[in-house]
Amino acid sequence: RFLTLEGGEGVGKSTNIQFITQLLKKQGIDCLVTREPGGTELAEKIRELLLSDHSEPVGELTELLLVFAARAQHLQQKIKPALAAGKWVLCDRFTDATFAYQGAGRGLNRDVIAALEALVQGELRPDLTVLLDIDPAIGLARAGQCGTPDRFEKEKLTFFERVRKGYQERADAEPGRFLVIDASAPLSEVQEEIERRLLLSLNL
Ligand code: C5P
Repeated sequence: RFLTLEGGEGVGKSTNIQFITQLLKKQGIDCLVTREPGGTELAEKIRELLLSDHSEPVGELTELLLVFAARAQHLQQKIKPALAAGKWVLCDRFTDATFAYQGAGRGLNRDVIAALEALVQGELRPDLTVLLDIDPAIGLARAGQCGTPDRFEKEKLTFFERVRKGYQERADAEPGRFLVIDASAPLSEVQEEIERRLLLSLNL
């Protein structure tokens, strides 16, 4: 099974991916935990390119192609072999992030993203996606406490409002795949909600 975790800045993805990993472990399921952009040596180098500042503006299409270049490598090297071996894979961000950030955020055409998705992934899609949802004004304030902002974290609030909407539209279009969790609640409540709904959806 292929699970993904999504959400904007400061939603608590890192903390909750560890929580989900432990939760599944208690059920006897050992997941391969990975992240995007990144997940392999080469893909992590592409991640660094994406997140760092450059002396020239990074084109939107360049950004999109870099995201998918990293994903192609990650799929080939890590995700597909694990799934083929019958393992569970838990990925911190995947293509829903591309529709949200590069699509809704940057304004790139959804059909272009969908075409790249088909090219790079074929039929492969996540089985289940946990979306941590929060008002970006709250999320950014939280994320701001975690060190130097990367290239994306320097974007304006309106960018993150579009990203949130982009995620919500994805979730509305595929309610069977998405578990949308209100991430503004205290962490213990967020985790109770994740536990209850994830185990239910996975029949565990
Ligand atoms: O998940 P994490 O916060 O580590 O992601 C790193 C950054 O990459 C985030 O700031 C996110 O905005 C950005 N990102 C992106 N497009 C993607 C995936 C991640 O802009 N498709």
